[in-house]
Amino acid sequence: MINQEDFFKKITAHAKEYGFVFQSSEIYDGLSAVYDYGQNGVELKNNIRNYWWKSMVQFHENIVGIDTAIFMHPTTWKASGHVDAFNDPLIDNKDSKKRYRADVLVEDHIAKIEDKINKEIDKAAKRFGDAFDKAQFVSTNPRVLEYKKQIEEIGHRLYRSMEQNDLEGIKKLIEDLGIVCPISGSRNWTEVRQFNLMFSTQMGSTVEGASELFLRPETAQGIFVNYLNVQKTGRMKLPFGIAQTGKAFRNEIVARQFIFRMREFEQMEMQFFMRPGEELNWYEYWKETRMRWHLSLGIPASKYRFHDHEKLAHYANAASDIEFEFPFGFKELEGIHSRTDFDLAAHSKHSGKKLQYFDPELNESYIPYVIETSIGLDRMFLALLSFAYNEEKLEDGTERVVMKFPPTLAPYKVAILPLMKKDGLPEKAREIMSDLKQDFMCYYEEKDAIGKRYRRQDAIGTPFCVTVDHQTLEDNTVTIRDRDTMQQERINVDELQHVITEKVKIKM
Ligand code: ATP
Repeated sequence: MINQEDFFKKITAHAKEYGFVFQSSEIYDGLSAVYDYGQNGVELKNNIRNYWWKSMVQFHENIVGIDTAIFMHPTTWKASGHVDAFNDPLIDNKDSKKRYRADVLVEDHIAKIEDKINKEIDKAAKRFGDAFDKAQFVSTNPRVLEYKKQIEEIGHRLYRSMEQNDLEGIKKLIEDLGIVCPISGSRNWTEVRQFNLMFSTQMGSTVEGASELFLRPETAQGIFVNYLNVQKTGRMKLPFGIAQTGKAFRNEIVARQFIFRMREFEQMEMQFFMRPGEELNWYEYWKETRMRWHLSLGIPASKYRFHDHEKLAHYANAASDIEFEFPFGFKELEGIHSRTDFDLAAHSKHSGKKLQYFDPELNESYIPYVIETSIGLDRMFLALLSFAYNEEKLEDGTERVVMKFPPTLAPYKVAILPLMKKDGLPEKAREIMSDLKQDFMCYYEEKDAIGKRYRRQDAIGTPFCVTVDHQTLEDNTVTIRDRDTMQQERINVDELQHVITEKVKIKM
């Protein structure tokens, strides 16, 4: 068993080596927490976005999509609360000069206590063998109970301080817990300060006449300010949703863990509008529906969990994260938030426009309530990378790295490989390819021994390899190799289309 840190390093190295993700501006030594997607990465990313879009927009009659600009009127961010409240508490270590998010330091401390609980569980499981009852153990073992109590107390103090914007309280908590800087090992901390996460820029040709704009920190506000446009022109009836995917920008204080926390990233968001009072039912509905979306990709349920929020954002009356087990632990992948009428009411107030809905059944107008589902495309990409990456020992003693992407998301669906570069095999392979590429991303390769070519396709997660040999010229059959089982089957060229479609089509 390799440890998780090494595993994560392997994934990031693999992502680079096989053209999935590159550091931005790498030839200039890179730009921190900004990444580019390579030739295979962009296909995977497009496929994830497409899978989300289809499941949200195409599969729901009452959800439509939009695509709004990154720049928005500056008042948008005043109304949404981002100018005043989109802050993270930061703290510097005076010895290492490293900057941290104060709340993350505390959360990392909590994670360490959780690790201790897991160690106790592992130990006990070994000791008791088959007779081990985990639920009973965690609810009765004194040491575990003590750890759980500590976690609860620390959590409460943190959430209370965060909620009350009590920066001294957070500093005191860090001191009381004896948290040290991971780099310098010292407790020599500065005060905690607030730091706004929005990037700003200027619009206009002269500095004097320019107005300050922000790069949007979320795509959601583009949906809210267009609520009325879409509702009216689409003749939408409540409940209905508006979906959008696009870039968002945050000047994250600590941007690490590869594409988990980036300064420029992409979101896939949907705002679902409904009658006030119905929001908690829809909240449960969307929690479940979004979890089913994740599981529909064939990733085991044990990799996911809900984390219901204790501390609610200023706009929410219920909130939950779908967390994924990344190599560095369970972390937020998607948020489901019950945002009440906060956003539409705020934009109504700041714009002077009535952002309401006339309900013909009730014969009255009101501001709809909103449930939001918000997932980071790049985080989903990272979740898939870490799920898909597998090292396997083969029967002949060799090893392979295989990316077991869900076939529907794999960058390439099929590789067409003529066994040899002669005897008309490349021509036949090209002929098959020109047919299949109408429907699938196909990869053509004739260089190197066939085994080596299979390995390269495994490494980028291509579900099928089709090999064209001399028999193909005689009877129009090829071998088709399955990425996961490595089994080969001989089938007629005319069947390829059907076999591949069955495996890679979107099933929901
Ligand atoms: P975190 O607590 O990790 O900072 P958040 O709670 O601020 O995230 P939201 O504002 O709810 O995140 O954003 C919705 C989704 O957008 C997140 O679940 C995540 O998948 C994605 N996301 C947010 N910030 C980033 C980032 N810096 N880089 C990549 N993805 C991000």
